[in-house]
Amino acid sequence: MDIKELIKRNHEWAENIANTDPDFFPTLAAQQKPEFLWIGCSDSRVPANQVVDLDPGEVFVHRNVSNMVIHTDMNMLSVVQFAVEILEVKHIIIVGHYGCGGVRAAMEQGENGLIDNWLLDIKDTIYHHRKALANITDYEEKVDRVCELNVIQQVYNLSHTNIVQKAWRNNKRLQIHGWCYGLNNGKVKDLEVTVDSAEKLKDIYRYKVE
Ligand SMILES: [Zn+2]
Repeated sequence: MDIKELIKRNHEWAENIANTDPDFFPTLAAQQKPEFLWIGCSDSRVPANQVVDLDPGEVFVHRNVSNMVIHTDMNMLSVVQFAVEILEVKHIIIVGHYGCGGVRAAMEQGENGLIDNWLLDIKDTIYHHRKALANITDYEEKVDRVCELNVIQQVYNLSHTNIVQKAWRNNKRLQIHGWCYGLNNGKVKDLEVTVDSAEKLKDIYRYKVE
């Protein structure tokens, strides 16, 4: 597809919306008040707004390879802080997807370059769950289970940040959810690992502030 085609499509899209609802863009331009922060994979097949059928303005989005929450990632931390403290989102959703290429790469021993370092946290998760994973004989099934385990780990990683714990300490309603998206059916599965307080966190990860 020619790049000019994208601009043509954009103009048609904007005009269609403006024709249906003339106030749509002026209202959005004035302010954003999304209730959700989506942390998902960069994979082109998992577009945040479309998957949950939300309009512009309804979901704040951060995406990277394999939906990681790496504690030294200033980009991710800045997004989370802005979303929690300024936008006051009520839900943060970590959205992985089955068959994730980053997860596949982390499961193998081949060297792929810089990305290998980004994916090391997934190798840690695989190692941590090696006994349970050894019981899964079907390789694709194993890939999918690691995709789920990775999401669950990222939910924990996020709940360990002082940004999230500060929000809970200040009695802000904030839930962190873990989902996994099916590329072959378009549906998300709730992994039912929602965290909404520091209560269940291991002591070492809990900040005690007087
Ligand atoms: Zn992916």
